[in-house]
Amino acid sequence: MQVQTQNSPSSRDGDALFQTLKKEGCPICLMTLEAIQRAMDQWLYEGFTDAENRERLVRSHGFCARHTWQLARLPASLQLAQVYQSTLPEILTSLTQSLEQVKQAKKTQGKSFWSKWLKRRDKRGVSALPAPCTLCQTQRESEERLVTTLLTMLCSEPFCERMRLATTGFCLPHFTQIYDAANNDEQRSFLLNNQCLCAQRLQEELAELIRKHDYRFQKEPQGDEMIA
Ligand SMILES: [Zn+2]
Ligand SMILES: [Zn+2]
Repeated sequence: MQVQTQNSPSSRDGDALFQTLKKEGCPICLMTLEAIQRAMDQWLYEGFTDAENRERLVRSHGFCARHTWQLARLPASLQLAQVYQSTLPEILTSLTQSLEQVKQAKKTQGKSFWSKWLKRRDKRGVSALPAPCTLCQTQRESEERLVTTLLTMLCSEPFCERMRLATTGFCLPHFTQIYDAANNDEQRSFLLNNQCLCAQRLQEELAELIRKHDYRFQKEPQGDEMIA
């Protein structure tokens, strides 16, 4: 279903956000997890032998621990083992070179060494630190894109109405990100009021869940509070 009003924007992300607002959980988290899952599937079925992906993996010194475990659970442990077996010599060479540079620079620069080293860039302006994990990068890009889309969708009345009625609210990191990126006081006020409303609703549902676990009320039918 497309969200359409007189002057509301409509986009694939906007429509997907509109649908995700009905689900339990932070919509940005849910959609970002889907984006990461798609990226992992793509890496697994098409990209793990791809030269460009391999190069990116060397630059980032592999995947971060969290995404390595997520890939291993897909399961993709065989593909991970193959890719690490072929990239590890380059990663270790790069690591050894960095450590060697650290040793040399530390001798000459003394106490201010670490702050300088962390900001260091090569002739092409590339940071000396490893690039971020490609899946972390996917996560960051997805979050930024969704936050921008969400703020654009705030001029759609059906979207705002669904946020008021159906959403379970945003997790704290994403609420902070959206609130910081908001374009004006009107948006900030709406976001804050809505988040308070969601927190209040959650609190009531938790109280109801606890009440229904009392032996006197255990026969009452279960409702939304059971998934609070
Ligand atoms: Zn979230
Ligand atoms: Zn990662």
